[in-house]
Formats: sequence, C-alpha cells, structure tokens
Amino acid sequence: MKQYERKTENRIFILLFLLLAIVSSSLIYFRLKEEPIQRNMDVTEEVSFSMSMVPDYNGVPYAEIHENIPFISCKDTKEYIHFSELDECGRCGIAEAVIGEEMLASEERGSIGQIKPSGWQTVRYDDLIADKYLYNRCHLIAYELCSINDDARNLVTGTRSMNIYGMLPFENMTVQYIHDTGNHVYYRATPVFSQEDLVCKGILLEAYSIEDAGKGLSFCVFCYNVQPGIEIDYQTGESRRIDYQIEKEIPLQKEYVLNIRSLKFHDPDCEGVLAMSENNKEIRIATRDELIEEGYTPCGICNP
Ligand SMILES: [Zn+2]
Repeated sequence: MKQYERKTENRIFILLFLLLAIVSSSLIYFRLKEEPIQRNMDVTEEVSFSMSMVPDYNGVPYAEIHENIPFISCKDTKEYIHFSELDECGRCGIAEAVIGEEMLASEERGSIGQIKPSGWQTVRYDDLIADKYLYNRCHLIAYELCSINDDARNLVTGTRSMNIYGMLPFENMTVQYIHDTGNHVYYRATPVFSQEDLVCKGILLEAYSIEDAGKGLSFCVFCYNVQPGIEIDYQTGESRRIDYQIEKEIPLQKEYVLNIRSLKFHDPDCEGVLAMSENNKEIRIATRDELIEEGYTPCGICNP
C-alpha cells in the first residue's frame, strides 16, 4: 500500500514537472512572438525618440520630430503587422507594419464601442467640440491602412483633436500614396505614456516608402493628445474645462463650424449647423479673431 502511494506521488511529480515544462516553454514562445519583427531594418541614426524632442504644444495639432526623418525604416517589402501586447496597466505599445495595397480597407468600418482603451472616459463638451465627445477610440494604425478594426492592442484613448487634426492627415497621405503607386510603406505608431499615466501624451507617427527609399513618402511627427479649451489629467483620463481666469491671456482656440458659402461661423451645437448643407460645412479649430480676420462673421443665433 505504501509502495503504491509512493508510485502515485512520483507520477504526480512527473506530471507536474511536464506541465511546468510545457507552460514555461510556451511562455518563452509567446515572449518571442511579442518581440517586434526585425527584418532588414535600418536605424537611421544612433538617436532614439524622447519627449524632450517634442516642442510645447502651441495650437498646431502635430510637430515634426527629428527633422521629419523616421528613426527606423525597412528595406523589405514583405507585408506584416505587429501590435504590442497590452502592458500591466492595460496600455498599448508600439504598432508597426509594412503596408501594401492589399492591406488597405475596402469595407466600411464596424463598431468599436465595446473596447475601452486605458484611461477611457465617456465625457462630452457640447459647446467646445463639434462631435461633442472629448475622446475617440484612436487606431494606432488606422483601419483604412490595415483593415484591422476592433483589436484592443491597436486602440488608445485620444482626443478628437488628435484623431482628426493630428493623425488623420498623415493617415490619408499614406493611404493615398499606396493607392497611387502600389508601393509599400513601413509605418510605425508609438503611443507615448509618461510613467503610470493611462492616457498617452501623444502618438509618434513614422512612415517611410520602401521601393523609392522614402522619396515618395517619409514623415516623423508627434501628434499631441490635447483638446483646445480642455485640460486632461493623463494619469486618469479625467478632464476639465480650462478656467477662463487662466486662459484670459491666450485667445481661446476652439472648434467652430464654418459655412464657407455664407461666411458665417457657429458654435458646434447651434441649430444653424443642423440646417447647413454638408457641402458648405467646414469644421475648424481657431480663435474667434482669426475667423473674423479671414472674413467670417459670427452667427446671430448662437453668438459664438
Ligand atoms: Zn449659429
């Protein structure tokens, strides 16, 4: 009986050992899989990005970094996409891809409302933001570029300003270049978090066209995760209106809706905006004075 018990015990030990071996080897495997794919990469210089390279936000939604030259590029046109696993705070990391024509989205984007990126808050400022909501779920690599929509490793909490005025022009530029040439683009998006912050300070976007060695497309820009008129607590994602007292010296930049036909400008929630034809509508972040200088007059209903 004793003998029998001992045997079973041994068997259990062996089983446990095998199990442990399997688990640890699969852990090693997953770790390896997580490593960025290094395939014929060129590091442009010995420098790497740091927040000290980013000028203070001055109202322009993005800034060129490193003389607009990507820190890294790639010679291999083989298509791939790689997202970092979420870290212990649930935050996204670097997303990178070699994008070719087949990867571009051909279908309408589906819903992503079920994903809550780190620092996510559903908060609206109807009078400051045309779409009302402060935060968008921002794709690191735009859906239009990779056809991947609802992957949590590709979505961060970003302001509407960063999404629309910071990132979108560069995403569109990249889509356009690939469409026009059929060439491949190395593309990397790096969300930059400070310490334990749940909301990123911004996203570094780098792109480099491979076949023509960056002649057709090359950029390195930092898109600020800010929203004019609103202060963000990056640690938590909480936000508040910037107090008028603090803001007094600087003319308030905010979102206005312009009617490019009648040359009137409105607050985003004005009833005049609802009646406006989409063809005449333009959304702009500006100060009141800037618009008046351009020849626009404030709407008589909303008195923006
Ligand atoms: Zn109005």
